[in-house]
Amino acid sequence: MDDADADTGSAGDGGGECVFCLIAEGRKEAAVVYEDGSMMAFMDKYPISTGHTLVIPKRHYATILEMDGKDVGMLFALAHRVAKAAVRALNAQGFSIAQNNGKVAHQVVPHVHVHIVPRFIDEERSRWPSRRTASMDELRAIAMKIRQQLDTRSDGADAVDVELITD
Ligand SMILES: [Zn+2]
Repeated sequence: MDDADADTGSAGDGGGECVFCLIAEGRKEAAVVYEDGSMMAFMDKYPISTGHTLVIPKRHYATILEMDGKDVGMLFALAHRVAKAAVRALNAQGFSIAQNNGKVAHQVVPHVHVHIVPRFIDEERSRWPSRRTASMDELRAIAMKIRQQLDTRSDGADAVDVELITD
């Protein structure tokens, strides 16, 4: 999906540093939802819906083709957990997961990231009129709500207690 590449600023062509590496190293501010030794989830600074979250491997890979299958599995396992938590926390009726690889696919930051975009019946919440920069306070508040809903089981296999609208 074209509009889902949130992407937080420039990614350092021309010698700059990768913005997601900086976040992973704790050298740049982010509203963190989850972090472990190898993976991280934080709020997109330019959300396209309430709760728009990014999941990344901490290590720098430009695209998922550079990752091995096991790490891709871990990345998407975390995306699954975060999606469930975001739906719970925000009472979303659906969500989109997008992962873009390459400029032609609208990848802006060349560090692998998975977008989780909660969707709502209420269009007001589902899509902001135009993409905007959210305040860090606002993002931190949402990140805390999502964090509180994260499954305690790392395989995300807690009972499914969310109901999406599917027809
Ligand atoms: Zn990076």
